[in-house]
Amino acid sequence: MKRILIATKNKGKAREFRAFFEPKGFRVETLNELDEIPEIIENGETFTENALIKARALTNLLQTAVVADDSGLMVDALGGEPGIYSARYAGDHDDAANNKKLLSKLEDIPDEERTAVFHTSLVVTRIGREPLIVSGNVKGRILKQLRGAAGFGYDPLFYLSKLDKTFAELTPIEKNKVSHRGQAIKELSEKFDDWWVKE
Ligand code: IMP
Repeated sequence: MKRILIATKNKGKAREFRAFFEPKGFRVETLNELDEIPEIIENGETFTENALIKARALTNLLQTAVVADDSGLMVDALGGEPGIYSARYAGDHDDAANNKKLLSKLEDIPDEERTAVFHTSLVVTRIGREPLIVSGNVKGRILKQLRGAAGFGYDPLFYLSKLDKTFAELTPIEKNKVSHRGQAIKELSEKFDDWWVKE
């Protein structure tokens, strides 16, 4: 049976990828099912480099196809910060501290200059093949205070004017329709089957 490892421990991401790959006949595993999770130093300078480092390391080690993604928020007024450091901007995966730091850095910035982009780079690697690389972006604006209780990370600050809602005010299905990760998965769905059968 075809096998693919999702390079994540995150249950939400795992569910999304399972829904994508299982109908294609793949046995889907995540890092949670490995006996030992190898330590991989993601020291790339871009989202794509970091996703590639992770996916290639796991493909080489475990001799299996791997999907890895790397995402983050880029705020224009901060020259693209927090970017690849999004998860550990203030504290390691401490969403409240990260949001607080972002708000304080933007304290004097007016509404119209608080534009930002969420980005996802998603890669699939397989022994002896060029990787498949896709990506997704969504533009929004950073609010001056938190709004909404759903989601994670910077969701309560990321505002979409066309929906008049933050990411934290959307259901998972609504968020997937517009989000950076949703866009990347859409591109993956357009390209994956051809890439997989290509010699
Ligand atoms: P990851 O690469 O998907 O783990 O994302 C890295 C970090 O970027 C997360 O820990 C969050 O701080 C931020 N981030 C990525 N995607 C989102 C999102 O959809 N909403 C809010 N924050 C996000």
